[in-house]
Amino acid sequence: MSHIQEEIRRITASLPATTSLVAVSKYHTESCIEEAYAAGQRIFGESHVQELHRKYAHLPKDIKWHFIGHLQTNKVKYIAPYVDMIHAVDSMKLLTEIDKQAKKCGRVISCLLQLHVALEETKFGFTPDECRTFATEGEWRNLSHVKICGLMCMASNTNDMQQVRTEFHQALELFRELKSGPFAAHPSFRECSWGMSHDYHIAIEEGSTLIRVGSSIFGERTY
Ligand SMILES: *Cc1c(COP(=O)(O)O)cnc(C)c1O
Repeated sequence: MSHIQEEIRRITASLPATTSLVAVSKYHTESCIEEAYAAGQRIFGESHVQELHRKYAHLPKDIKWHFIGHLQTNKVKYIAPYVDMIHAVDSMKLLTEIDKQAKKCGRVISCLLQLHVALEETKFGFTPDECRTFATEGEWRNLSHVKICGLMCMASNTNDMQQVRTEFHQALELFRELKSGPFAAHPSFRECSWGMSHDYHIAIEEGSTLIRVGSSIFGERTY
């Protein structure tokens, strides 16, 4: 068995029933994805539109493609026909564009709100307060071709695992608050996308339902 297949099996066997693996295949070849597919993996995460588009064209059609990176509004149209979930929605502008493109394709696209809980400065992601406001103001309720399925976050890039745990916990608390508040009537609001290769064990303890694991499966970038 290849390293890729061993890792897929090892990780999926260790997950609780409520957590799924998103195999992050960005920068890895189609043949790497085919190996993971042969081990039964069906959800793959990509973060570049052109790369995803090429892989989508060549690979089996029962793959669920999750877009996990920052998505520019002008690129939504390329992936709207087939993308299964968009993880990093952080503005009404982006959500509105996804809705518009999904409508053109006759689809409803699952989206997660990206939360910024890490220490690093970044212009991406809602702060917890912004996210609360966004959810409560409820403009998203007017959009019928997107479904907000939960929250996504990345922890600080640190070896301080207590810090990482604190950040995931903060995301989980907000998820629970929104689930029983603005999304109470929306059972599809149920996903917590947190945890990568080095911190997914902690993420699972802090409620993750989607772990996004790349390098521990596929190794370092192959191109
Ligand atoms: C690349 C990436 C991952 C996977 O990271 P690994 O450390 O390789 O597991 C997860 N989430 C996002 C948003 C990424 O860009």
